Amino acid sequence: MTPLRITEYLATPPLPRLVPEGVFDDFGWCASDTLEWSRPSARPFDLATPLDGSDPARMVFVFHRADHGPEFLPREMAKLHAFGMGLGDDDWALAPYAIDDATDGLWERRMRPREVLWLAADNMNALFWGLHDWSHFHNHGPFEERAWTELQCDQAALFWMWVNRGAIGLDEPAWLRMHADVLQGALARFEAEGKRFNPEYLPRCTADALRDLAPSRQP
Ligand SMILES: [Zn+2]
Repeated sequence: MTPLRITEYLATPPLPRLVPEGVFDDFGWCASDTLEWSRPSARPFDLATPLDGSDPARMVFVFHRADHGPEFLPREMAKLHAFGMGLGDDDWALAPYAIDDATDGLWERRMRPREVLWLAADNMNALFWGLHDWSHFHNHGPFEERAWTELQCDQAALFWMWVNRGAIGLDEPAWLRMHADVLQGALARFEAEGKRFNPEYLPRCTADALRDLAPSRQP
């Protein structure tokens, strides 16, 4: 029988801090290394879903074991959020509204995120936000400088999208478009927050700067 889901271990090497010191109070407290990512095998990964800032559909962090959903984290049934992957009544997931609880709770207890959670995501928007949250889980901040915090996590998601583009099936032009859109959105958050973005930080956030940080160029 064909397995209902395809699983990949995405490389998530730590992205250096690109934003001012003090935005995070414990940047890189846990060095990210890999993210277990699954998607349904019955249909192709949906590359076309546009990125947007709303709650991503069909994305959820699943606890590795039913009895391992740490009690301090709100949980919901995984099958309510990830479909066609064979998830059953014993599969529990981090409640989608509880990303901040996980960011704080895993950090307070020094629990390595990958030992607790794996990601179910069947479309590009879902995978982007999953990677964005993966950055939050490894870099703790008080979230007082929201626009800067989100900028760092956006850049980490873009960086990991680039590093894993082969596994994801993302080509270079599509990644460059995504980079431009995401960066534009990240800069708009400063305006929305009534904060000023310091343009000295822009050169660290360009597509070329991110690609230069990738461990090795794929053929
Ligand atoms: Zn965020």
